[in-house]
Amino acid sequence: MTTHDARITRAAQLAANHPSAAPLLNFYAELARFQKPVFAELQSKSETHLRALVCHFPALIKLVSRSGTELLANFAAENLHGTDAQLELLSAVWEGGEAVVAFDPAGRFYARVLLQPFAEYLASRGDIQPSGAGPTCPFCNARPVAGVLRSEGDGGKRWLLCSLCSTEWQFRRVLCPGCGEENKDKLPIYTAAEFPAARVDACDTCQTYLKSIDLTKDGHAIPAVDEIATVALNIWADEHDYAKLETNLLGM
Ligand SMILES: [Zn+2]
Ligand SMILES: [Zn+2]
Repeated sequence: MTTHDARITRAAQLAANHPSAAPLLNFYAELARFQKPVFAELQSKSETHLRALVCHFPALIKLVSRSGTELLANFAAENLHGTDAQLELLSAVWEGGEAVVAFDPAGRFYARVLLQPFAEYLASRGDIQPSGAGPTCPFCNARPVAGVLRSEGDGGKRWLLCSLCSTEWQFRRVLCPGCGEENKDKLPIYTAAEFPAARVDACDTCQTYLKSIDLTKDGHAIPAVDEIATVALNIWADEHDYAKLETNLLGM
C-alpha cells in the first residue's frame, strides 16, 4: 500500500503535467491530506469500529463546503445532521456489498472518504493471500477501481486495485472482471498518446471498462492517483458506451 504522502506528492506532480485534470487532482490531494491523520489515529488506537470515524465528519463536511461541489455540500446539509445519520451512512456503505453502487453518489462519497483509511488500516492488519482471487477484493469484497500492470515473467502480470482498502490482487490479463468474458476479441484495449502509462481495458460483452496503469512504462506512477489524472479516458470510454466498473473516490 502506498502512503498518503506519496499519493499527495504524485497528485501535485500530475496536476502540473495535466492542467485539465488539475482541479480534480487538487481536490483529491486535499482529501488524501484529510485521510492521512484518520488512518494514523485508527492505527495508533488499534481502532476497528466504524464509530471511531464519526468524529471526523464535521471536518470533512467543512473541507467539502470549502473545496467540493455544491452537490456534495448540499447532500451534507440535508442528510448528515447528527452522529446517528452519519454512522448509519457509514454502516450502510460498509455492509452494502454489491448494493452500494445503487447508493446516492454523494452519500457514497462521504462514506468512502472515511471508509478508505478504515479499510486500509484493517487490511494492513490482516493476513491476505492476494493471489488466485476473483473479480472483487479478497479482503473487503469491494470492486476494483483500476488495474495495475507489472513486469513479472512473460508478458507481465495484471493486478486489480481495490477501490476501498487498496489491496492489490492478481487477476488474469485476458478476463473481464465484470462478466468473466475470456475471448480476447471481445476485450479490446484502448490507449491514448497523451497517457503512455494508462490504457482502457474494455469488454464488449458487458460494455464495462477499467483503466490499467502500466508500471513498466512509468515506474513513478501511483495507480490510484494516475487513475484520476487520466479522466480524459473516462470521457472517451463514456462516449463509446462503456460504463466504468467502479468509480474512484471522486465518483468518476
Ligand atoms: Zn478491499
Ligand atoms: Zn465483461
